[in-house]
Amino acid sequence: MARHRGRGWHGRVVAAALGVTALAAATSVWTARADPAGGRQPGARASAPAAQDRAPAKVSAEIAHASEAGDRGVNITIDDGPDPTWTPQVLRLLKDNGAKATFCVVGPQAEAHPDLVKEIVAAGHRLCNHTVSHDTTMDTKPEAYQSQQILDAERMITKASGGVRSQYYRAPGGAFTPYSRQLAASHGMRPLGWNVDSRDFERPGADAMVATVKREISGGPTVLFHDAGGDRAQTVAALREVLPWLKQQGYSFGFPVR
Ligand SMILES: [Zn+2]
Repeated sequence: MARHRGRGWHGRVVAAALGVTALAAATSVWTARADPAGGRQPGARASAPAAQDRAPAKVSAEIAHASEAGDRGVNITIDDGPDPTWTPQVLRLLKDNGAKATFCVVGPQAEAHPDLVKEIVAAGHRLCNHTVSHDTTMDTKPEAYQSQQILDAERMITKASGGVRSQYYRAPGGAFTPYSRQLAASHGMRPLGWNVDSRDFERPGADAMVATVKREISGGPTVLFHDAGGDRAQTVAALREVLPWLKQQGYSFGFPVR
């Protein structure tokens, strides 16, 4: 991963993302889907509280990969925004393809662009807490710092959304700790991993991103893209191709289990 060093936190995200992908492959998404804490029990969703304006119910602290949409479900996840240039383009493509996604938003970004957060929610997508500072070394930091990063972001996101809470927590770069997973879960945020890294941060070209998704989607349903942190034109172009392709293959767009 040495080639990623020195690029700032975006580079570190990619490096850590690959590690998480490898971990996910090793432990298998199918194991995750069989997890009894995965929220797939009959009636589990019916009894789950709405995300809006209620005290959040505790959820599992295990890192989720599976989809509520079942074995042919795909979880599109969009990280690091919202961003006034790229988020509207992503939202338009999702709408055009009838797709729902999970947006892992950074607290100050949400605070700066509350209208975009409200648009995300109004379109039926879900929110995920992606901390305040996007520190990919959070797993080496004191618990007080981890708590501040998660809970301050949650206040920013919930205020920006008009009261709609994050239903997931994704540690920047996958730098989860047992403490941060438990803390997030106790506030109603299921820790969220990923299976397929589009590697859009490396800007390999839209075709390469599409090829990565096509090649790896059979290994697990949760796909990682970004709508901020630089020029995301390739990401938009890749989504324009990959969303219709997924539908053609018989996949449906869903949300990660909670
Ligand atoms: Zn991120």
